Amino acid sequence: MRVCVIGGGHNGLVAANVLAEAGVEVEVFEARNVPGGLADSREFKGVKVSRASYVLGLMPSSLVKKFGIPTIKQDPFQTLFVDGKVYPFWREPEKRRKELLTRGLELFPEFDRKLLEFKKMIDEEFTFLDSPPSMEDVKEEAKRRGVEEIMELSSGKFLERYLPKELHRAFIYPGMYDSPAYLVAYFYSPQWSVVPGGMGTIGKILAQRAQSLGAKLRLGNLVSRIEAEGGRIKWIESGRKKFQFDAVISATSPLVTWKLIGEAPKVQSMRPHWVKYNMVFREIPKLPEALKPFYASILDIEAGELLFHSASDDSLGE
Ligand SMILES: Cc1cc2nc3c(=O)[nH]c(=O)nc-3n(C[C@H](O)[C@H](O)[C@H](O)COP(=O)(O)OP(=O)(O)OC[C@H]3O[C@@H](n4cnc5c(N)ncnc54)[C@H](O)[C@@H]3O)c2cc1C
Repeated sequence: MRVCVIGGGHNGLVAANVLAEAGVEVEVFEARNVPGGLADSREFKGVKVSRASYVLGLMPSSLVKKFGIPTIKQDPFQTLFVDGKVYPFWREPEKRRKELLTRGLELFPEFDRKLLEFKKMIDEEFTFLDSPPSMEDVKEEAKRRGVEEIMELSSGKFLERYLPKELHRAFIYPGMYDSPAYLVAYFYSPQWSVVPGGMGTIGKILAQRAQSLGAKLRLGNLVSRIEAEGGRIKWIESGRKKFQFDAVISATSPLVTWKLIGEAPKVQSMRPHWVKYNMVFREIPKLPEALKPFYASILDIEAGELLFHSASDDSLGE
């Protein structure tokens, strides 16, 4: 069987690894000249900076282990600085809950337990399935585990139950308060870690591994069309050439996929409410004294997020 993966971001590359491992003949078509997609590093004067995605935490830990992705586990994994108060989020759950309780977040322990139980449910019951589960299946299992509110409420309403308003923005992007509360669980990850050399390290590792298993990586190959007939793939087009495969996996965005199959997008494209600037500092900017013990953490301050991991990363990542 011959399979084509469109898009050599980390999801396409994971697919290529899994398929090649199973003995499938696989080719990845990637438009850019480097693999990794948004898991990508750039170098400025010897300092490597993650171009887009910058911390690892949403990839299932089984895959992080399987692919041997190196991580720096900064502890606390994140520190919030809101209205002059410091809230450190330690990796160890009991330490984290105790500390935030003593800092006045009375309902944090329950909030934290519920989010982690929900994530455990997704890992144990709803990851790597042959077909997608129904919403009802997920709701039922969530109820069985006592976390059904995460399937029922909006992000804003769920956060209101447990945390003061000024902390909400640390758990969901402002502008997304009406989105379902399961997105709060999705973004909340005590696994957030920094990757030495920046996120591009992930792209490199996955690409090399897929190639060593026999997958073919076609960089600089933009796919312009997927042609199907009667529910079967006929060919894909790249650089005015047609290529035939038994199956095609599109690991590009749904919008791109719809365009490639020649249909109008079925969703409105989302306009992000935020901008990311990559900056390389000569020295650590002056921050409030109270934050000094937490410089190894991701610092979440009013102006955005700051990462200073070069201090602990000898590859000069981030
Ligand atoms: C600014 C920013 C910061 C983020 N920060 C984080 C973070 O810190 N941690 C985190 O976990 N997530 C973060 N995310 C989200 C994360 O980056 C994405 O969820 C993840 O990279 C998606 O991976 P992917 O492989 O699905 O897609 P992508 O990484 O987008 O890869 C898709 C690939 O497909 C290629 N492609 C597209 N169209 C075609 C075509 N027609 N033909 C051939 N190739 C094509 C693209 O060039 C690209 O390489 C961030 C996203 C952004 C934008």
